[in-house]
Amino acid sequence: MPLSILEKVEIIDVAAEGNAIAKVDNLVIFVPFVAPGDIVDIKLTRKKNRYAEATALKIHHHGEYREEPFCEHFQTCGGCRWQHLKYEKQLHYKQKQVTDALERTGKIIAPPMLPIIASEQTTHYRNKLEFTFSDRRWILPHEPFDQTPEELSALGFHIPGRFDKVLDIKQCHLQPHLSNKIRNAVKHFCNQNRIDFQNLRTHRGLMRNLIIRNSNRGEWMVTVVFGVFDNHNADRRNKLLEFITQTFPEITSLWYVENPKPNDSINDLEPVLYSGQPYITEQLHGMQFQVGPKSFMQTNSTQAEKLYSAVNNLAQPSNNRTIYDLYSGTGTIAAILSPNCRKVTGVEYVAEATNAARNNAAINSIHNATFFSGDMKDILTQSFFDQNGAPDIIVTDPPRAGMHGKVIENILIAAPQKIIYVSCNPATQARDIALMQQQYKVEKIQPIDMFPHTHHVESIALLTKTDT
Ligand code: SAH
Repeated sequence: MPLSILEKVEIIDVAAEGNAIAKVDNLVIFVPFVAPGDIVDIKLTRKKNRYAEATALKIHHHGEYREEPFCEHFQTCGGCRWQHLKYEKQLHYKQKQVTDALERTGKIIAPPMLPIIASEQTTHYRNKLEFTFSDRRWILPHEPFDQTPEELSALGFHIPGRFDKVLDIKQCHLQPHLSNKIRNAVKHFCNQNRIDFQNLRTHRGLMRNLIIRNSNRGEWMVTVVFGVFDNHNADRRNKLLEFITQTFPEITSLWYVENPKPNDSINDLEPVLYSGQPYITEQLHGMQFQVGPKSFMQTNSTQAEKLYSAVNNLAQPSNNRTIYDLYSGTGTIAAILSPNCRKVTGVEYVAEATNAARNNAAINSIHNATFFSGDMKDILTQSFFDQNGAPDIIVTDPPRAGMHGKVIENILIAAPQKIIYVSCNPATQARDIALMQQQYKVEKIQPIDMFPHTHHVESIALLTKTDT
């Protein structure tokens, strides 16, 4: 089949990475932004032996699962790519992703799955967004190319796969509305005062990033990331920070940082507090968690509480239990389990997060939690378990890549009664569970939606030791 146009193709399913699927003459075709039941004309953009990729040209018939997208940036922006799917259907496909991963990747006989926990809010659910400044915004197909520098400027999100192109965002539906007001006002002020936006190829220009965070107690933190500043632009920097302070009394913590590096991460930089408190406070399960400009915190707070409740329900801790919280971040899971166990030990790579975990334990008067910092595969040895107590329950919440083989080996030797595996990537979760299958039975699976309108799904698995 040459790269061509196919007419009136029926969309039949949704694939793991979020694109929809059509099948023509046994060729699987991935098509973004269409829904099962749609009848569409598609144009093939890439063809391999067993699959092809295509874009939809015309939709002849709308399937019953289609929803009207709510965002003007839909299809151009990399976020919220499932807006055209009814939320109940999004949940269905997320749940299916977890089942498919366990059955296909892991070859695991999955237990009947608990129904996916839906997100209470399907818009404005995030507590953190990071925007990028650019002096050359992404020009949409119908727009003219000759534009003023102001018209060309952007403060928004990267175009998927394009490090040098930023989509100017007018309104984002992911964070409470003040986030839009702050972003738009900052952009306007910079343009009015000729404060230059960075060029993403040369990294010249003062304005680099704007990070906006809010807490479920109603506090707001803004971190302005600048390029290199000298005496001349230090004035402009201060003028902008003063403008933000005066215009937005809601911001309780305002930071800035100079980033001379090619990459955007601020984790290896030292932000400076310009005004307000050094942190905002998130309240989860009646406990307080201080969030600084570099702290990791689950980005959907309401769902984070549900995730932690589910972990607690599956763990069923009791006062004589020794628990480990692996990949503990700022120690939220350890803190929430701590009142109902003998002792909990957290292990986390990032030293700042571990310090935050200790601090969070202190402000919540938790005395039975200890935190260690380092690479899991180096720290989690048998002598570590000897020193900190044989585990009854291990909660593990690794990054998308899953657990290192050595970590799995040491967990198997330590042989806790229960393992609670929290994952943001069902494929690596299935791979890791498969390696533990000889000694552990998958008792329960609880998927949970933390990110509506994306294909991402969180999956919590309860594994119990089989020889007990
Ligand atoms: N359980 C926490 C954080 C989970 S995110 C919460 O709910 O908030 C995963 C964490 O794993 C991150 O904090 C990351 O820094 C940490 N991490 C990633 N690789 C690691 C490694 N090799 N060793 C230890 N921690 C690691």
